[in-house]
Order: sequence, then C-alpha cells, then structure tokens
Amino acid sequence: MFWADKVAAEIIASGKYKPFWVDDMFTPSGYPHVGSLRGPLVHDIVYKALRDKRVDAKWTYVMNDFDPIDGLPPELEERFKQYYGLPVRSAPSPEEGYGSFGEYFAKDIQKVLKELGVEAEYLSSWDMYHEGKFNEVIRIALDNSEKIQDIYEKVSGSKKREKGWLPLQVICENCGKLGTTRVHDWDGKTVAYVCEPDMVRWAKGCGTSARISPFDGNGKLPWKVDWPAHWKVMGVTIEGAGKDHSSAGGSRDIAKALCSEVFDYPNPYNLPYEFMLIGGKKMSSSKGLGLKARDLTDFLPVEVGRFLFIKTDYRKQVEFEPIGTNAIPVLFDEYQKAAEAYFDKKSDDLGRAFEFSQIKEVKKPPSVRFSVLAQWVQMPSMDQEIKEKGLEDWAKYAKVWVERFAPENDKFMIQEKLPEEAKKLSDKQKNLLSEISKLLDKKWKAEDLQTEVYSLGKELGLTSTEAFEAFYIVLIGKNHGPKLAWLILSLDKDFAKKRFEEAAKS
Ligand SMILES: [Zn+2]
Repeated sequence: MFWADKVAAEIIASGKYKPFWVDDMFTPSGYPHVGSLRGPLVHDIVYKALRDKRVDAKWTYVMNDFDPIDGLPPELEERFKQYYGLPVRSAPSPEEGYGSFGEYFAKDIQKVLKELGVEAEYLSSWDMYHEGKFNEVIRIALDNSEKIQDIYEKVSGSKKREKGWLPLQVICENCGKLGTTRVHDWDGKTVAYVCEPDMVRWAKGCGTSARISPFDGNGKLPWKVDWPAHWKVMGVTIEGAGKDHSSAGGSRDIAKALCSEVFDYPNPYNLPYEFMLIGGKKMSSSKGLGLKARDLTDFLPVEVGRFLFIKTDYRKQVEFEPIGTNAIPVLFDEYQKAAEAYFDKKSDDLGRAFEFSQIKEVKKPPSVRFSVLAQWVQMPSMDQEIKEKGLEDWAKYAKVWVERFAPENDKFMIQEKLPEEAKKLSDKQKNLLSEISKLLDKKWKAEDLQTEVYSLGKELGLTSTEAFEAFYIVLIGKNHGPKLAWLILSLDKDFAKKRFEEAAKS
C-alpha cells in the first residue's frame, strides 16, 4: 500500500484523532530551500489520503509570523540588520507590495505551495494571538511556569533553571523588539519585563523595564510551548515535523508532555519526516547551498515537482542533486513510469504516487523521454516537431535543464562558425564530410543516413568513432553528441552542406 494510504488508514483505525485536522507550520523569515517543501507536501498528501477514504478532514498551514527576526538571508543582511529582534510582522517588507517582512516571506512560500496544488488554509499565528485566541493558553502557561520548567528538565535533561522565569516574551513598548525581553512577575493581570541589552547575541534590547498585559498580542509563548499551544487553540489532531524535532528529549517530547501535563490536550498524530538531501548534505539556505523553494517551478512542471516529494515514504531520506547531474532527466523518466503504472491500472505504489502528483485533472505526460527532448531543444529546426507533438510544455523545462543544470557532456550548441578543431581532422575524415555533403540533397530517413555515414566511413578506412567524430567537431565543436543523422537532418540543409564542404577544404 502507498505510504500515505497506510498513514491515513492507521489514523482512522486508531479512533484517537478526531476530528481529522492536519496542520503544519512555517516561520516566514527567509527564502526556504527546496528541501523544506517536503513538510507541507507530506501533510498535503496525508490530508488527501484521508479525504480519499471519504472522511471529513481539515488542513491548515500556520505562518509563525510572531517569531522574531533572528537570522537573515545573506542578500538582506546589510539592509535589515537593524530589525533583528522585531517580530517578523513588525519589520518592513524587502519588496514593495507587502505589509511586512513576515507577509512578504509568507506569500513567497504560499505562492509555490499553491502552484504545487497544496490545498491548505493558510493561517497567521500573529493574527490569532492578536485576536485573543491565545489568551487562555497564555494564562495556563503563566500559571504553570514551575511545572513547565520541570518538564523541560525532566524531558530534555536541561539543568538550567531560572528563578522567576516565565514562559513568555512580550513586545517592548519602547523599541518594538520581542527577542530581547525577559518576563518575570506574573500577578494575574500583568507581567513585568526588562528589554535586555545582552540577553541574545543577535539583537540588543533598549533597557526598558515596565509592566504590561500578556494578552491580545502583547506577548508570545516561547516556541517549545507555542507549538502545543497552537494544537490546543486550533484543535489540531495530526501534525508532523522534521525528524530532528522528534529525537529523544527533543521539542516533540516536550510538546507531548506539555499536552498531557499542562494543556490537558490529546497528543496529535506525529509524522517525523526525513530530510531531503542534496549532495549527501542537508540542504541549507543559510549556507547558500541548494536551491530556493520559490525556484522549483522554474525547473520542474508542478506535477513532477509534487512527485519528487511524495514518491518516497516520509520516513526515508530523499536525495536529489540536480546541479551538474542527470537527476532531473531521471526524475522525469520515473514520472513517466509512474504514469504508465497508473494508466495500466496496476495498483502499485508508483501509480498511486502519480495519482497524488496530479493537481486538478489527471494529465497524461508525453511519451518522449526527457533526455531526448533535451537534445531536440538544442537542434535549431526541431521546433516544428516539438509543436506538432504537443511537447512545448516539457520542452520549456528541457531548455532550462540544458542551460542551468546539465553536465557539460549533455550540452551542445551548433557552432556559428567552423570550429578551429576542424583543421585537425584527417584527410579521410575530410573526404567523408565532402561525400556526405554531396548526398544531402537526397530525401533521407534518419536511420538510413545514420547507416550511410557509418558504411561510407568504413569504405574510406575510418572507424565508426572517427567517422562520427568528424561531424560532431564541425557542427558542435565536441567529439561526441546526440544521434548524428537526427542532428544533421534537423539542420537547414544548405547550412549543413556548406559547413561540411568548408570543413573538407580547411
Ligand atoms: Zn526595548
């Protein structure tokens, strides 16, 4: 059974997770890397698998837009370092047209997720806090601050206890920062706070000390408490996270203990999903490695993009190294195989992965292999054929692959001038070029021309490698290339004839 169907069946059979409410979260404070799309797609597919079993389910994706800015994309560091410590919703947007820093990055990920057919309802944590929806859980957390410290200590083994510590940060009324405030002394109505100059390395507080109500968006729970608090406030019953959160004594264990001992809320079904690896390393945007999520649909059609994330069980790593490799053509091949499994009505996992990759309607992919298409898009006069066969959509991605990702070996360009290397060809090779040039006026089938080059070369005393190499050198300046006769016949006939004659005389 396909992994998501298994998960859905297990959730339903247990009877513990009703109503079915799938949720995932994201902090909109930078450009996430491609790998971070795995979380929302895993949740999306579990939601869809539940729906397929004809149960009512809800699917929300929460923007953690009350979080402070504690890191910046390298390209924004200089311009935005003054905003460190502010909630992402209080800092200005890097581009015009968005209400805030947080809104800009929320829209950035939502755009690609919507393109990928992720049908979540997008919610804002900042809004929920400001609407007063968190007032009750804030009160519970403040009333149970000792117990929460006990849980931290018991579950994660942390010994760091602070006298008077309270699980809350408030927005400093003087400087607007959240990341710098230390809260103490809860009297049931207000808390006291100090905006500390040296509490965190990444932001400097202004020194203000005052009292403030912790409610209605003035303050936010620290994220280990904030996570289970969201579950209770919203009613979430199914939520996973990257598996690093689920290690023993990690944030998931803390959240689970807070659910049962503080919030009196049932622990949601967990989906501890594995990472997406690039070049054997976890993709990280902060180190400048890897591709941004927002770029995904520039180089993959949305269905193939979805397929990349969902074809593998969420508990297994996905390795995808698209730069300078054949990973993209291989992915397209696999996608075509999955489509075949689906249309042949084989009820296997691959067919189901294909079905889950579709967005509104089931789209039959082209039957031409992507690697062949990648050669066609490099041949000047294949445009007509691409059009006639309805391959324009995939051809667009084949072009992107050739230009941005393909290994050098897979790239070729018809050279505008006769390449220098042509001078080094042997007399026998030049003879062959001249002979073939004379034959080009005939109407050729590609297979026949391919045989002709081979046998004529043999007659002239050339090995097949020497024969074919002559043509590749004079056309694309390399000693190998795509299937030769198809390449020659894709060219303007007069151009090819002239090029071969010129080479023969060089
Ligand atoms: Zn301050």
